[in-house]
Amino acid sequence: KPTRIVVVGGVAAGMSAAARARRLDERAQIIVFEKDRYVSFANCGLPYHISGDIRDREDLLVVTPDDLSRRLNLEVYTEHEVIRIDRVAKTVKVRDQRNDSVLKEHYDKLILATGATPLRPSMPGVDHPYIFTLRNIPDMDAIKAVVDAGVFSAIVVGGGYIGVEMAEALRRRGLRVDLVEQSDQIMASLDPEMSRDLAYHMESYGVHVTLGKGVREFRGEDGRVEVRLDEDDVRFADMAILAVGVRPEVKLAREAGLEIGRCGGIRVDVHMRTSDPSIYAAGDAVEVRDAITGEWTLMPLAGPANRQGRIAADHIFGRESRYRRSQGSSILKVFDMTGGGTGVSEKSLRRAGIHYRKVYVHPNGHAAYYPGTHPMHLKLLFTADSGHLLGAQAVGFDGVDKRIDVLATAIHAGMTVYDLEELELSYAPPYGSAKDPVNIAGFVAA
Ligand code: FAD
Repeated sequence: KPTRIVVVGGVAAGMSAAARARRLDERAQIIVFEKDRYVSFANCGLPYHISGDIRDREDLLVVTPDDLSRRLNLEVYTEHEVIRIDRVAKTVKVRDQRNDSVLKEHYDKLILATGATPLRPSMPGVDHPYIFTLRNIPDMDAIKAVVDAGVFSAIVVGGGYIGVEMAEALRRRGLRVDLVEQSDQIMASLDPEMSRDLAYHMESYGVHVTLGKGVREFRGEDGRVEVRLDEDDVRFADMAILAVGVRPEVKLAREAGLEIGRCGGIRVDVHMRTSDPSIYAAGDAVEVRDAITGEWTLMPLAGPANRQGRIAADHIFGRESRYRRSQGSSILKVFDMTGGGTGVSEKSLRRAGIHYRKVYVHPNGHAAYYPGTHPMHLKLLFTADSGHLLGAQAVGFDGVDKRIDVLATAIHAGMTVYDLEELELSYAPPYGSAKDPVNIAGFVAA
């Protein structure tokens, strides 16, 4: 009898699980329920359609349910929300949102890929119609419609990557943009001295960055949004974007009695199995182990979500693939600059009480005599005794992505700063230097 797999959530983790399951078993019955109208869309591309870089909205809709049915023989149901799991009967209850009917579906294996939901702090005025969050296509459409209508100003609340990408997108559309961040830095995954240049760079493009002030309340007046910050600082704008983080979407899992971890994500083992061996979970909804500290944490990123979905499908079909730990490798474009990091930050090392050493180097992205390069800030964190790499961050203009990915690979491989000296990396003047920034960081650290 063919295995019947039900997947809840049809984007990164869910679709990669479904597609992988099909590749491993031609006969399996694979059913995907997605509560929204779109599946498998490119959420990471949403800010770039608002900015106008990705002109055609259709480019974000990577595949349609019809494609998935034709190419992979998946049964994909959009506007179908799974509302209950019965673990004893091994069924899910699903609401068809188009006509409000309810249906029941049996599973042999269930994969929860329910993602995460943008935080909307419960504060006065937060439901103002011109305060937006950005997670999916309808959110993007709503924001873009307001921008296209010709508003003049926006306040972006939150200096994480979505806030920074949105501030850039709106500024490039010609709006006056305020970015407000409660902590004393933007891009919390980097250390403060590394993220500083990114904030200055945003200012140089006309984004007004305010650090160290949180939002107390919102008010609406004459169609405008009034944002009241700490210290009685009041700002007005035509619209506001709330980008203050996400919360794992675990309602279904919790109601079904599956184990939820301390960070609020679904607990899974290395095969992405929940506390019920017939139910797997993957993506932003789950907790993962930090690669360096070993602590449970949340790492809502697309790469891990895709990999975890694939691992869940592998395990259902008897493969021993494992998801061990998350390194949190990430990268961000900020106008002409790039900031990236991998492994653990200095802040987190201090918090975890881990002994470390650090070096900073400022090499050019490529050979100085070839046009178009600038010095980058490169920071390396490593163990005080053996020199094992713990983390790396880079901020600059050209070549940041390449160095972060080399260092991400080095951390994954358990390499030391001594190994970095010896790495033989590709070189021609437009791309690098005979002594690559990664080699240089190794020389200085060793
Ligand atoms: P999601 O993609 O959120 O998919 C979950 C789906 O489950 C949703 O469509 C939801 O509607 C559906 N669902 C939930 N509950 C139910 C239910 N009960 N029944 C049916 N369906 C349900 N990551 C990066 O690594 N790099 C980036 O540059 C980057 N940029 C981003 C930019 C933006 C604007 C956003 C929003 C995210 C970005 N991310 C980025 C994060 C990345 O998109 C997520 O980590 C990834 O999408 C997580 O995949 P997922 O499948 O777990 O969750």
